[in-house]
Amino acid sequence: TAEIIDGKAFAAGLRARIATLVPAFEAAAGRVPGLAVVLVGEDPASAVYVRSKGKQTREAGMASFEHRLPADTTQAELLALVDQLNADASVDGILVQLPLPKHIDEQAVLLRISPEKDVDGFHPVNAGRLATGLEGFVPCTPLGCLMLLQDKLGSLSGLDAVVIGRSNIVGKPMAALLTKASATVTVAHSRTRNLPHYLKHADIVVAAVGIPHFVKGEWLKPGATVIDVGINRTENGLVGDVDFESAASVVGAITPVPGGVGPMTIACLLRNTLVAAHRNAGVALEADAI
Ligand code: NAD
Repeated sequence: TAEIIDGKAFAAGLRARIATLVPAFEAAAGRVPGLAVVLVGEDPASAVYVRSKGKQTREAGMASFEHRLPADTTQAELLALVDQLNADASVDGILVQLPLPKHIDEQAVLLRISPEKDVDGFHPVNAGRLATGLEGFVPCTPLGCLMLLQDKLGSLSGLDAVVIGRSNIVGKPMAALLTKASATVTVAHSRTRNLPHYLKHADIVVAAVGIPHFVKGEWLKPGATVIDVGINRTENGLVGDVDFESAASVVGAITPVPGGVGPMTIACLLRNTLVAAHRNAGVALEADAI
């Protein structure tokens, strides 16, 4: 049966490495890296995410600035806060927790964040940088998936990869990262006609669909490496987009849900914040330090 990829342990190691790099930054810059997290409204899942982001930021020795705004905050008020954070030299990264209440234009808010502080990597400038091979910020969840894949497989060059899902947050940047890593990438989505046909040849599968147990083991190539991004709340708790039991008897390695990709996302957020701090303060960071 398949090796279970321990994202929780990998993320803990990554956070520990990040924490060891903070004192040198502080010595050089005279301040610690700072992450501002903005939550609008009271969505319970978002509140949990924001709380763990703040906690893990502080545990890494960085400053966490948390802004909790009421659900009836106007778009103008939110944009004014983003402007204020853009101008604040103690803030290296700005994260506006999604989804935003319906009366606020999400795209307008993401566009307002300075690309140099866009540690979520959602600004079109950073998406463009990723697409064209320029240095920028890569969205945290696909970055975490790439780290797990490279840790497991080493070079991805020439491998066949299928990404299921084409969202701006996961699927598209994941496909860009795999392309950059020289995999041969297929992007499948809701209009894909014969998904099992593509999966049968895939050495790497990244599932970011949002449908519980969607990917069946019988569709997968024996020995494949499967990264399950899905976080679906069901009566039986959190489950992924991959039918774990049937997949685990076929593939070579697979991430569990929970304990796979989930913990990697915040660890990569801290990584992006540390990188942003070095760039913003003009302090060098060794290329392969994290
Ligand atoms: P999304 O709803 O924006 O995108 C889902 C994608 O799945 C779409 O591109 C759609 O085309 C595709 N899809 C839908 N039905 C399909 C089908 N029948 N066959 C093939 N493709 C199909 O979702 P998202 O934001 O990309 O998130 C996907 C999943 O990942 C969700 O479960 C979400 O909760 C989870 N997620 C996890 C993390 C994490 O930190 N681990 C982060 C972001 C999202």
